[in-house]
Amino acid sequence: MTLAIIAKLERVLALKNYFVRQGASEFGLQQNHAEILIYLSQANKYSDNARALTKYLGITKGSVSQSLALLEKKTMIERTINPRDKRSSKLKLTLSGRAALKHIENIIPETFEKLEAVIPTSDPMLETILHELQIEQGLKSFGICSGCKFHTLLKGGNLRCGLTEEVLSQNDAQKICAEYEAAV
Ligand code: SF4
Repeated sequence: MTLAIIAKLERVLALKNYFVRQGASEFGLQQNHAEILIYLSQANKYSDNARALTKYLGITKGSVSQSLALLEKKTMIERTINPRDKRSSKLKLTLSGRAALKHIENIIPETFEKLEAVIPTSDPMLETILHELQIEQGLKSFGICSGCKFHTLLKGGNLRCGLTEEVLSQNDAQKICAEYEAAV
């Protein structure tokens, strides 16, 4: 039963990857470049850096550096000094990076959106399974901020990260974070 479900999910993923590769190639990019654009569009302010990206993709630092250099050359991403740590940089999509990502997303057939009805991205059970699998493999969780044990709703509706003690916006709450820890 489990293997049958996994096989179906793998097939769906393989088809999704086919469309991502097709869209990326129109910009002279490979699938991993597109995955970086997708990641940076979803990463929060603690995760928009090369270190977190390397952990998320599970590939070597050298490979990430090469991919970032190419995306910078194509002016799809830009680096800024990280105000929390002047030795590191923050990575951000430029307008042309966003346009490329939009194009790639548009190539993925709408049929894939039906998956959200079956597996909602904010489903707590999915988060739990993903968390357990990643912990078992010694990987970081990279969950959505709103499900993190440090995510705090203050009186008056403001949000705060209990780890960094910083205020979070509603937008931050919907993004993925390298420091995420499941609230279970
Ligand atoms: S609450 Fe958790 S997921 Fe959200 S920013 Fe803080 S550490 Fe990251």
